[in-house]
Amino acid sequence: MDRLEELVEQARDSLRAVGCEVFEARRGEEAVKYLLDQLEGEGVVVKSKSNTLKELDLLERLEERGVEVVETDLGDRIIQLSGEEPLHPVGPAVHLTLEEVAAALSREVGRELPPDVEELIRASRLRLRERILEARVALTGANVIAAEEGAIGLVENEGNISLITRLPEKHLAVAGIDKIVPTLEEAVTVMKTCEAFLTVTGAYYSFIRGPSRTADVMGIEQFGMHGAKEVHVILLDGWRREAARKGMKELLYCCNCGACLSVCPVLLETAHAFSSRVGAGPMGVVRTWFVLGPEEAIRGGLFACTGCGACRKICPASIDLPRLIERLRVEACSRGFTLPPHSSLAENILRVGNPFGEKPE
Ligand code: SF4
Ligand code: SF4
Repeated sequence: MDRLEELVEQARDSLRAVGCEVFEARRGEEAVKYLLDQLEGEGVVVKSKSNTLKELDLLERLEERGVEVVETDLGDRIIQLSGEEPLHPVGPAVHLTLEEVAAALSREVGRELPPDVEELIRASRLRLRERILEARVALTGANVIAAEEGAIGLVENEGNISLITRLPEKHLAVAGIDKIVPTLEEAVTVMKTCEAFLTVTGAYYSFIRGPSRTADVMGIEQFGMHGAKEVHVILLDGWRREAARKGMKELLYCCNCGACLSVCPVLLETAHAFSSRVGAGPMGVVRTWFVLGPEEAIRGGLFACTGCGACRKICPASIDLPRLIERLRVEACSRGFTLPPHSSLAENILRVGNPFGEKPE
């Protein structure tokens, strides 16, 4: 992270050298505008899970324009079809019963599916393949970017990311600038770290270095043989440089492994009370502060953290999340944001000299 600016520059040049289009977005709105331009006129776009995409106000804007967004991760697709709230970022649909999942997927395939896991998976596999073939554009995040080689690294267990980054003609990958590491060697370390904490051990590591190409006809280089013809990488700053300036650089070490989510007692007990559109749990609440502001962070559980330290203990990057949350709470209070119960206690103290609002004898 001390070499962040140098690495951003190197990644941009290397990605361009291998044929990617690179767009650097200082703010989320710039990224959204670029993506909307790229998706102009499309009827359907296939998408994989991405924390960075959650920061952008993109999906609603696409829907307004009549572009159908098809989630290709099975859990996310079940949530999308059922209209339920995701319970947990890593297993968004694990709280739904087999019957509820069968009902959601039956609507998708247009016939009644039995509540049988194998049958549901088989039907979803076929239907999602049809949807992927229908789409001209795929939208993904990136687990890591190797600056020297200009390579986008992706880890997955289902295989949906491999399919959507190969079959549609255009691949749009959105990556925070914190995802950039010097070389492929560090990139593999980051990918192994992500995988170590997945609920299901990862099945695929992919590196993408530009569009698919061939020179098999007369030695003339052509793009888009089997894989994507165009690869666009959107390097997003958003809140990252600001966090570093504020002395919270360690936030940028997060590899989104999700381990903190699996141990946080507040998230496990309350789920929706400790999350926002931007993300869940400790990392989600801190990102919410930077992306949506203090009020949304408070609504998303800034004051819900108990400071138990379990997230810090398990984090492979040793990010001191409770300390960072505490810092943001101090800032929230000093800027006049308080929780409604606290405000009423404070009012009582000022009015009658005690927090309970009773008049002294
Ligand atoms: S310190 Fe806070 S965010 Fe971290 S695990 Fe404990 S309650 Fe959750
Ligand atoms: S904060 Fe640490 S544990 Fe949580 S997702 Fe990021 S790297 Fe993983």
